Amino acid sequence: MNSVVVPAPARPPGSPLSGVKHVIAVGSGKGGVGKSTTAVNLALALSKLGARVGLMDADIYGPSIPRLLGTLETPLEDPTSGKIRPPLAHGLKVMSMGLLAQGQTPTVWRGPMASRAVTQFLSEIDWGELDYLIVDLPPGTGDIQLTLAQSARLSGAIVVTTPQVLAQDIAKRGLKMFQQLRIPVLGLVENMSEYICPECGHHGHIFKSGGGEKVSSELGIPLLAKIPLDPTLVDESDQGISLFESRADCEVAKAFLSLAQNMASELSTVLSGGRSEKATVVSIEPHAPSSLAKVIWSDGKQSAISFKDLRFFCPCANCVDENTGHRKIKKEQIAGDIKPTRIQTVGNYALGIHFSDGHNTGIYSYDYLRRILFSETEGPRV
Ligand code: ADP
Repeated sequence: MNSVVVPAPARPPGSPLSGVKHVIAVGSGKGGVGKSTTAVNLALALSKLGARVGLMDADIYGPSIPRLLGTLETPLEDPTSGKIRPPLAHGLKVMSMGLLAQGQTPTVWRGPMASRAVTQFLSEIDWGELDYLIVDLPPGTGDIQLTLAQSARLSGAIVVTTPQVLAQDIAKRGLKMFQQLRIPVLGLVENMSEYICPECGHHGHIFKSGGGEKVSSELGIPLLAKIPLDPTLVDESDQGISLFESRADCEVAKAFLSLAQNMASELSTVLSGGRSEKATVVSIEPHAPSSLAKVIWSDGKQSAISFKDLRFFCPCANCVDENTGHRKIKKEQIAGDIKPTRIQTVGNYALGIHFSDGHNTGIYSYDYLRRILFSETEGPRV
């Protein structure tokens, strides 16, 4: 079996996507981070590695897939089944509003109509037998994401971000949305992570490096790939040229191939329940008189941390220097009577904690809490 082809539980016979093993959504908190570029090249990489792949452009408002794949072929209706046959581009089955609208003026759809278009893309398109249907979502968090989660059994989602601080915060919002929709997040992709000079091959950082790693470790979500910024990719994308046909050995092509492999392996882990073995917080109770928060974990372990330490170890960007990783707050600055005023779960991976000093931006992933609560030998810290 090919390494990127992952078995899937069967869909009910007769269901519109019965031949599709995995539907994978590619999303981002905001536009312009390279979400569509990632969706296209992930699909091409999976296909290059032997999988049967479809690509659905759910960006109804600003479809860009036809341009990226260099196709404007109008989908045709199968006279027997009445279903629409998706055109083939670079070996991928493709469907996009841009093919129906012939790439003319951007289609202005209202929310419910856009959601209907997505449902139709899922139910009235003859996707046939596919190992992966990659869905390029519109940027942000909204109707279409919800519709997709309700109408297709999604195997997982990937969130694309760039190294800038703002993009990281927005990526976190995207991650939270998938968690709320109960779609497993397979991982993060950090796009435009470094610049490779086309003349001399020098690698340089335009933005600060390490943003993807930071979000990944804060939220306990794998960083699946770091895609370099490659100016040639812009021209190729504009002309609908496949990177894997023009420059199969370049760094950016290798990065997308490794994304495809890492995504497939993460998918296997998630499907086999591997991720759920990680301990999660069952309860966290502030014990006011002792100023300790008592934490009970799903693996039966218990730990405790003082309110002051909990506040001190806040992982948010206001409390930790993005560049150096050093804490910006000092313990002496934290009031002796500090206490958590609200503790809420964030998806199934973290806790958001509000404190009596008004600080409320800390999202403590279970992985991070585990690290601050237990020493190397897994002994409780407090
Ligand atoms: P989004 O779907 O997030 O709005 P796009 O995929 O359309 O973003 O990318 C936005 C622009 O950035 C496009 O011009 C695209 O060619 C360019 N781009 C995306 N990723 C890269 C990259 N790794 N290197 C160079 N240019 C890129």
